[in-house]
Amino acid sequence: RAKETGRDTFCFYDANMNARAAPRLRLELELRRAVERQELYLVYQPKADLLTGEVSGCEALCRWRHAELGMVPPGEFIPVAEESGLILPIGRWVLESACAQMREWLDAGVACPHVAVNVSPLQFLRDDLVADVSALLSRYRLDAGALMLEITESTLMRDPERAIAMMRRLKAIGVRLAIDDFGTGYSSLGTLKRFPIDYLKIDRAFVTDLTTNASDAAIAVSVISLAHSLNLRVTAEGVETEGQLLFLRGRGCDEMQGYHFSPPIMPAAFADLLAGGRGLALPVQKDLPART
Ligand code: C2E
Ligand code: MG
Ligand code: MG
Ligand code: MG
Repeated sequence: RAKETGRDTFCFYDANMNARAAPRLRLELELRRAVERQELYLVYQPKADLLTGEVSGCEALCRWRHAELGMVPPGEFIPVAEESGLILPIGRWVLESACAQMREWLDAGVACPHVAVNVSPLQFLRDDLVADVSALLSRYRLDAGALMLEITESTLMRDPERAIAMMRRLKAIGVRLAIDDFGTGYSSLGTLKRFPIDYLKIDRAFVTDLTTNASDAAIAVSVISLAHSLNLRVTAEGVETEGQLLFLRGRGCDEMQGYHFSPPIMPAAFADLLAGGRGLALPVQKDLPART
């Protein structure tokens, strides 16, 4: 860091570098205060069961509204949080807020089958994650099976042995586990079969051009069959069109998430969705594959 190396080294930074570094630094400084300033909130994106059309759960997604910067997208602030270590307090806040929300929905009589929370690499490899999660489950009197943790494939592949050990401890307290962004992280099949997980989420990168790109279609089909042969359920991310929905449903994909059903929404809107029993309108489709 420039500050630590001192004044004499300042000439190493040209004007261009400063211009690029400054917003990043500003973001980090602002993010440091975001939790206490209550600038973070969660939105919830419904997931739908592709067999019944019913809401099968949701994913909690973090949002940051800064007084001057406005909405800062997660694609910008999550990497900054991760690199600066701020993801630890933020991740803890996300977990707690999601648990508090689950309790609120339960009290309102609109239980959501599962709420998934994203766990970042730094958070996942911390020993205290298990204790934190189980403390939250008891504080909010939640059924552990209603909480799902989404961990990206690339996080798991950083240190697969350690990841397996951590996942076993999380499974032991009863939470469900999903591999997020599957297809982008190079797991070997041998490693994948040792992960004690419940869901694979097919990355949006393979869903977007599903109906026009033969390779993406082939990848999606393979992931679905791989998941089923390992007794896992599959969720497709980023489903935006009926064509994608028809394709995935026809190939036996279990669950979908995407703008075609719903964008991420505020908790009250999600409660309305659950209360109204409004699921995904399924297109008429013949020859659905048999489910196991
Ligand atoms: P992700 O976990 O893969 O989440 C899915 C992302 O896809 C979300 O972006 C969601 O809004 C977006 N999405 C859902 N359906 C569609 C669709 O049909 N089309 C398109 N184009 N996009 C769709 P979002 O909310 O911007 O989050 C981006 C990423 O930031 C997440 O990817 C996740 O990796 C990270 N993130 C978000 N919230 C958290 C959090 O609380 N903790 C951690 N560690 N990471 C988070
Ligand atoms: Mg996710
Ligand atoms: Mg994802
Ligand atoms: Mg993704």
